[in-house]
Amino acid sequence: MMADMSDDDLRQYVATIPEILPVHYDALMRLHDADKVPQTVSVADLNASLFVDTFEEIMNHVLDGKSYPCFSSECFVCLEDYNGPDAIAHLICGHFFHKTCAFQYFERYSRLCPICKEDVL
Ligand SMILES: [Zn+2]
Ligand SMILES: [Zn+2]
Repeated sequence: MMADMSDDDLRQYVATIPEILPVHYDALMRLHDADKVPQTVSVADLNASLFVDTFEEIMNHVLDGKSYPCFSSECFVCLEDYNGPDAIAHLICGHFFHKTCAFQYFERYSRLCPICKEDVL
């Protein structure tokens, strides 16, 4: 019956158990795993804090003498090369991804940069 409960219900149920018995270990392990899921970021926060340029604009900045030490010509999330009109998101850590790849990644999986593990916000 514990396997059918949502994590929140399970958490409440576990809090009411007067004495933890071996039969409860599965539930405790599951909550332990649930707590390890990395925090993600909302689209609104991403929109507010990521810089976005097209690949063309970034190349123009480079021609103007700006240097991006961490820039590579492919996106680390989807491993595709950037094309001129692609929207590219810069993170504060200096890493770059397609805007759509970055949003999917930070919204669904983690709020940490997949390359350097810096917090994205
Ligand atoms: Zn990508
Ligand atoms: Zn990074």
